[in-house]
Amino acid sequence: MTTPSLIWLIGLFAAALSSAAPLQVAALHPLMADLARQVGGERVTVVNLVGEGGNPHRFEPRPGDLKQMQASALVLAAGKGLEPYLNRLKDTLHEVSVIEVGRSIPSLMIAKDGEAATEGSSAAGTPDPHWWHGVDNMRRAARVVALALADKDPAGRGIYLGNAQAYGARLELLQRWAHGELAKVPRGQRKLVTAHQAFAYFAREFDFTLIAVAGLNDEQNNTPQALAMTLAAVRLSGVKAIFPESNTNAKVLQSIATATATTLATPLIADGNGSGKDAGFEGMLRHNVQAITQALAAP
Ligand SMILES: [Zn+2]
Repeated sequence: MTTPSLIWLIGLFAAALSSAAPLQVAALHPLMADLARQVGGERVTVVNLVGEGGNPHRFEPRPGDLKQMQASALVLAAGKGLEPYLNRLKDTLHEVSVIEVGRSIPSLMIAKDGEAATEGSSAAGTPDPHWWHGVDNMRRAARVVALALADKDPAGRGIYLGNAQAYGARLELLQRWAHGELAKVPRGQRKLVTAHQAFAYFAREFDFTLIAVAGLNDEQNNTPQALAMTLAAVRLSGVKAIFPESNTNAKVLQSIATATATTLATPLIADGNGSGKDAGFEGMLRHNVQAITQALAAP
């Protein structure tokens, strides 16, 4: 056998291998795993490290997770400060690319006093990481993921970009449906009282006001003064219902609902960690829109 034909054979073998072995992508957030599946289709194997129903705020990679990441071509993080361990992780994984999917998406800022502030305002503190509640943001993120996948697998570029576009078109329909549903909520009720401040991007996109609630975060103290401020804000708003979240303690919210004569609504999904039909971005948005409409629309 001459050398050129041997090289040709090796080339064929390599091509067969690469088309047989899909690209492995690890995700540090359930919705980044969702994006990888939507955009990657059959060309990728997705490892959702947080797991369905898991909480990305509390996730910390363990040795088994590191092994999975080391075996991947790409690790997808939400970014905007959600994963405080990211720099350490990048140092550990130096060979594997870690992509912060939300990096190029414009931030809403959380002011130091916990209230939402616009970027650049003097009250601005840190970026609000919950960018995945904006439909436009998710469309943009799908393209970010498509380009990241294409970088690792140039032969699939057309497929990735095509999938991102098809997904984006589906999200556009979902967005139109969401606007239609939420239009049933009267102006005076377009207010969200939630367990943690996760819905600023949603509120901006769908024209809701967030009611500042003090002392409902895990990180904040449930002081009597904070609780009194929350009760006053809820009463003043005239809102009919308040929203717990699927993986937070509803006890404090229940006592607020009782004290303010409001209804405790169906829990919202804040961090993309719904399961079954509520899994993924589309499942999460559908669930949240239905819960909000059901609780706040006129009977
Ligand atoms: Zn959150």
